[in-house]
Amino acid sequence: MSATLVTTSTALGTSVLDRVGKTPLVRLDGLSPRLAGVQILGKAEWANPGGSVKDRAASMIIADAQAKGLISKDRGLLDATSGNTGIAYAMFGAALGFPVTLCVPSNVSPERKRILKAYGANVVWTNPADGSDGAIRKARELVAAEPGRYFYADQYSNDNNWKAHYFTTAEEIWEQTNGRVTHFVAGLGTSGTFMGTTRRLRELNPDIRCISMQPNSPFNGLEGLKHMATAIVPKIYDPKLADENIEMGTEIAYKMAKHLGRHLGLLMGVSSAANVAAAVEIAEQEAAAGREAVVVTILCDSADKYLSERFWEEGEPA
Ligand code: PMP
Repeated sequence: MSATLVTTSTALGTSVLDRVGKTPLVRLDGLSPRLAGVQILGKAEWANPGGSVKDRAASMIIADAQAKGLISKDRGLLDATSGNTGIAYAMFGAALGFPVTLCVPSNVSPERKRILKAYGANVVWTNPADGSDGAIRKARELVAAEPGRYFYADQYSNDNNWKAHYFTTAEEIWEQTNGRVTHFVAGLGTSGTFMGTTRRLRELNPDIRCISMQPNSPFNGLEGLKHMATAIVPKIYDPKLADENIEMGTEIAYKMAKHLGRHLGLLMGVSSAANVAAAVEIAEQEAAAGREAVVVTILCDSADKYLSERFWEEGEPA
């Protein structure tokens, strides 16, 4: 027997889907001596049941597919992913009773590989040299080879990806800051987090500045983020939505990851650290201009799946 998407009001306890979202907003204090009048806050997305921000998008994509009868134990879900969306799909598939097939570049961390296996997902490994684009091409190939065999979730084109953030992430940020948020900063992978949160925050207050962040090179170590100029651009991405785009270097993000661990007690993944580094840049500009600001960013996942990476041991302590 597997769980269903609908929980009745008489059922006791919570299902895995009930635990998605409503994550804490944590204070990120003391990140720079030049932040008078400015507060930086991070949305603790590691608190989601699958451990990342992608639980939001995956759960909405799956809920919509189930409502439309597109997914079942005989017609599983297929998608390309660099890791976190795959973990979310695999977890929900296990809980709700449908098979999950994932196209994943084979250089993802060993921790990710073990997690996907532990949830029982079928994984098609793709050439790391082709990055996430290689995984996307492989998924399209599998769908074309056997039409009707899979529900192709296609997180890069699926509107439920950004809508998850429109309906949940943005509303939560608004409520948790009592409407005082002035800036929103988020890195671009599929762009779902940035697109959905920005669209809703702008409706709530058109003056909120929304800043996207992406790696400054196609050869970056920022797992989960895309260098848009050289990648297959996600269909859901609209570059016009951002007030500003920040390019982030891998080394700066690594340094911030170490700093967050040592000085704030927050062991975060590299995209979270890149987000925080971008948020500090924005916060310093606001403080320098003498403006008060509340800068909110996303802590996409924890460091758990990245602890085997060498940068933790290299260089000077942050
Ligand atoms: N950080 C991590 C660790 C991720 O896995 C992802 C998703 N690829 C992102 C950031 C970017 O999120 P989005 O796909 O919503 O742009």
